[in-house]
Amino acid sequence: MILTFKVKHNRDFSSELRKAKQIAEVAVRTRTQTTKDVKQYGLKSIIANQILRKYARNRRIKEVKNVNLVVPNTGISLTQNTIKVPSIKLVLKYHFPSTFEKINQIEFDEEFAYVSVFLKEPKLIETQKFIGVDLNTTGHIAVVGNPETGKVVKLGKEALHIHKKYKAVRMTSQRNGRFGILKRIRNRENRKIKDLNHKISRKIVDVAKEKGCGIKLEKLKGIRNNRKHRRSFNFALHSWSFRQLQSFIEYKAKLCGIPIVYVEPRHTSQDCSRCGNIGTRNGKEFVCQSCGHFDNADSNASFNIAKREGICQLNKDRDLFKGSTDTPRGATLLTRETPNLQTK
Ligand SMILES: [Zn+2]
Repeated sequence: MILTFKVKHNRDFSSELRKAKQIAEVAVRTRTQTTKDVKQYGLKSIIANQILRKYARNRRIKEVKNVNLVVPNTGISLTQNTIKVPSIKLVLKYHFPSTFEKINQIEFDEEFAYVSVFLKEPKLIETQKFIGVDLNTTGHIAVVGNPETGKVVKLGKEALHIHKKYKAVRMTSQRNGRFGILKRIRNRENRKIKDLNHKISRKIVDVAKEKGCGIKLEKLKGIRNNRKHRRSFNFALHSWSFRQLQSFIEYKAKLCGIPIVYVEPRHTSQDCSRCGNIGTRNGKEFVCQSCGHFDNADSNASFNIAKREGICQLNKDRDLFKGSTDTPRGATLLTRETPNLQTK
């Protein structure tokens, strides 16, 4: 499995980044993959080579925007807690776990180094027991149910509060024509949600680990047509944060050998988790007319998810490094910036 760690590099690479962009433009224009052709820009060939490979090969790139410096494994040397990149005279201290097998590559932008490491995945634990995670756009965003014990853990009540708070701030700035800060607010909100997603996913994986269970998640594909989520006008936002939460759960589970199974989300909130017949959901209440079962609607849904047969193991290799020079940023990014490297 590939994980990417983001570390502040505290260096000014603006000159190198400018050269990198020029080289990428040449690559797009001429499709050359020979470093000799871009020698005049004066970027070290080990880096120039990566940029040429990426931009010359990908014919879908028509216009070059932000180009990062990419240093492959061969240009990196490693000692305890220190990464050395001789080509750009960089010594980087890192504090993320050193249990990885090797560094695949490091990408640099103005501010950060994205260190992508290869980790050996532990063997999956063998289990028939599963906990189910129900995702919601109202109330607690994640409700975890264990049908074996009947125990329910509700997580992420703060999410709605965060969304509401920043929405209000956004609307005020929009009204006052302060568009410049809109993006900053959005970034701040995203960071808050991301932190929350890290916490929620940690908790869910801990629950599974403690009970020796696997984790069943709702397949998010087609969530738009799902009755439960359709009415949420904040759909786009939630969909984004749900995907992030699932990917965090996924990689944290993988690191502990906990199996993840995706199930079809249809009717998870209408079915009765006790008898299987269709009941009635009213707000956060669920009632089954067939067997009289009465439960919190989210808890009922989480039990249904836990009991449902998995139909697919989506996203299985999404974060695997497939020889591309792109950092699998969205899927597995960790932001454990170390205190001595953080200036903000
Ligand atoms: Zn029932």
